[in-house]
Amino acid sequence: MPVAHLFLAPHFDDVALSCGGEVARLVAAGEDVVIVTVFAGAPPAAMLLTPYAAWHLVEWGVASVAEAMAARRIEDEAAAAILGAAVHLLPFVDGVFRDDRYHSWDELRTRLVPADATLPGEIAAALMASGSIGLGTVVTGPLAIGRHVDHQAVFAAMRLLAARGVRVRGYEDYPYAADEAEYARRLAAPDLAGATPERIEIAPWLETKVRAIGCYTSQLALLFPDTPMPEAVRTYGNRVAGGTGIAERFWWLDW
Ligand SMILES: [Zn+2]
Repeated sequence: MPVAHLFLAPHFDDVALSCGGEVARLVAAGEDVVIVTVFAGAPPAAMLLTPYAAWHLVEWGVASVAEAMAARRIEDEAAAAILGAAVHLLPFVDGVFRDDRYHSWDELRTRLVPADATLPGEIAAALMASGSIGLGTVVTGPLAIGRHVDHQAVFAAMRLLAARGVRVRGYEDYPYAADEAEYARRLAAPDLAGATPERIEIAPWLETKVRAIGCYTSQLALLFPDTPMPEAVRTYGNRVAGGTGIAERFWWLDW
């Protein structure tokens, strides 16, 4: 059944991190919100892992990708419950574990390899097939600030949805968007020319957002190596708000 708002998370934590405040605000206003985690799948158990993929498992303290994904699904359900949103998972496999396509963080932050060229179309088709997109549905997904290939694939899928008449807006991928150089670089790209910004005050929902992000315990040390998460999230939100209040910013995309 079509929903009012569909939020696209390439990975489990992206929506809570980037726009958890907006999700909580919409839910409080009585809107129905579904968060779709796109790369929630596990590769075939027999697949050999690259050294880079194996390093992730060590870092996360798990024995297999399936175990990692199971743990992250539990974190995700807890976060979505706090935000008041429903969760829908798609079975695409995270770039780190997608065969041997990406071997380092640098490669994951460049562009989709040719073998992934069909991915945006597959993601758009899976979203349409889910039945949750109707005429009034707003789809909110990543601008791919930081250039993670999985975020780029979801952004490309958003373009395909927009071409079919779906209303689409982009969120600023946090924590990537806190990097001013990456931010400026992405916002200057031709595919965002003509996008209209909308800044939304989320101070009343900051505490909810922080609690939701706090559910992703396996990721917090990697995501916030220097500053405690609540402080980092508050400081960044205050910066987006221009120094007064706490905000999240979205870009309405009209291609
Ligand atoms: Zn991500």
